[in-house]
Amino acid sequence: MTSIGIDFGTTNSVAALYGSSGAEVISIGEPPAEWEELGGYSRLLPSVVNVDDAGHLRFGWDAKLTTSGRRFEAVKRLLKEDEVVNAGDHDFLVEEVAASIFRHIRSRVVANGIDFDSAVITVPSNSRGLARYRTKVCAGLGEIEPIALLNEPTAAAMAFTLRHLRADQSILVFDFGGGTLDVTVLEARDGVFFEQASKGIPQLGGMDFDAAIMRAIAEDVPGSEQWTPEQKARVRLEIEKAKIRLSAGNIDETVIVVEGAISGYRLTLPRFNEITRHLVERSGSAIEAVMRDLRMGPGDVDALLLVGGTSKVPSVRQFAAEKVGREPEPGVDPMTAIAEGAAIAAAILDGRLDNHDFFVSTEHALGTIALDVQARGLAFATVIPRNQKLPARQTEIFYPIFDGQESVMVQVVEGDPDKDLNHPDNQILTEFEVPIDPPRPVDQAGFELTYTYDTDGLLHIEAKDMATGEALTDAVTVSFRGARDGGELVSMAGKVRSMVDSGKLDDSAASAASTVQDPRSADLLSKARTRVIPFLDDSGAQPLIELCGALESAGPEKRESLQDQLERELRKYSYLF
Ligand code: ADP
Ligand code: MG
Repeated sequence: MTSIGIDFGTTNSVAALYGSSGAEVISIGEPPAEWEELGGYSRLLPSVVNVDDAGHLRFGWDAKLTTSGRRFEAVKRLLKEDEVVNAGDHDFLVEEVAASIFRHIRSRVVANGIDFDSAVITVPSNSRGLARYRTKVCAGLGEIEPIALLNEPTAAAMAFTLRHLRADQSILVFDFGGGTLDVTVLEARDGVFFEQASKGIPQLGGMDFDAAIMRAIAEDVPGSEQWTPEQKARVRLEIEKAKIRLSAGNIDETVIVVEGAISGYRLTLPRFNEITRHLVERSGSAIEAVMRDLRMGPGDVDALLLVGGTSKVPSVRQFAAEKVGREPEPGVDPMTAIAEGAAIAAAILDGRLDNHDFFVSTEHALGTIALDVQARGLAFATVIPRNQKLPARQTEIFYPIFDGQESVMVQVVEGDPDKDLNHPDNQILTEFEVPIDPPRPVDQAGFELTYTYDTDGLLHIEAKDMATGEALTDAVTVSFRGARDGGELVSMAGKVRSMVDSGKLDDSAASAASTVQDPRSADLLSKARTRVIPFLDDSGAQPLIELCGALESAGPEKRESLQDQLERELRKYSYLF
């Protein structure tokens, strides 16, 4: 089994494979010549999907450069919330759009002659349980088995450390992408990376640089206020290319092709620096916040890694270096470092890279929900803590609550024990019953719960009776692909596959949503049918199926009460989401 690394970015996605000469980026993009000439852009796949009026789908560069139709960008951000997105008559679950990008990535990797079945996928370090969970689900729907999720700054640090092994060091990762800035300090200790502090600015990125240039042009070019959205979109692409040319460090002015300005718009490097200075300076507040948190001064970190496309801008590099008090590490490619780190982690997990001095570790604590007598409530009882090297195996002892209790329900939870149990970071992965046979007084009914988190990304759980030494259940295997392993995964994957492979929307799949006009009904029906009903046995599913049918055929006078009723029912199943 070969695993690759995927940086599933908000703006661009990058894939890499660890091979005989280290981590190598796979050319998954097919940009036109004018982008290719800028150098290395076939390594990026814009994370964009475009749907035209006839329902044809485009991906990557094709989608980015098409200025008509409905375009889905920054899909990764939408994974944080439960959103349905819409293109003309068609509604999509946001997972379907994200999954279609993974499916496209898959086909591009295979087109490069690389046979693989699984991947380590990177996620922002501040991303919540739901977004992480959905990222796994979407990769799976795109037929890429997600063997592990890796935090983006950890990935960048791994790519760097593999080449610059030093026992212990602190690393500042400055990740300036298309729409966000994330600054993280990690401590590398005994080969494990500990995130010590992290600060993000969610609305600051390369797009703001483009917008600043756009404003400057609009002020100077007569008639610009009458540009159609399509003309504007074309100018925006010209601006992005100009920004990239100016950042290469070998020219000090460039000409931007602009409608209405016959000889184009001349932009000098000093002028570019002037109109983007406020954006560069804003990035400093995140560096300051992180260093303040850790009581660090200039020069205190051992290495500065500049990643993300916007880190290619010379004034950004210079400013970050001054703030941190250290020169950026050479040899770190801002565009690809994260994917390279993911590829290294993938090689460690699939066994191709060993005897190295660093490890992949758990991003989250794993445990069970238990009654905390002191706190008089339910609590997250940790079995495997966060930042534990993989494979990890740990045992904790639990007791039933009552004398004579016949069984205990074990709920397996992944997340952060310091947060409230209902916090979205905490996700119930599964639950199962442990029999206490024969029933006895509490103090004699203790049982051991052993969690093994394997490098294959699966969690195995065993329960053993302490009094008899006997196994209480067959070992339970919890797949980290979550609760969607059933028929629903298969049918959604089928839809995504036919959409992407045919390049067209699957009309039969879209028609279920379009028969219902009102958006609340459509949303509830789609949730019930895709996320709840497929997981239930017949007796559980039947009442919901009937309720959905009733809502679909209800007249306006009955609709609202049926919607309320369905919503109440669905809430019972919220743990599946
Ligand atoms: P994300 O993490 O959001 O997916 P990336 O790290 O791919 O984003 O960065 C994308 C941003 O970087 C875009 O705004 C793009 O215009 C900008 N960018 C890409 N290459 C360069 C370059 N050579 N010089 C300056 N900016 C660049
Ligand atoms: Mg990124």
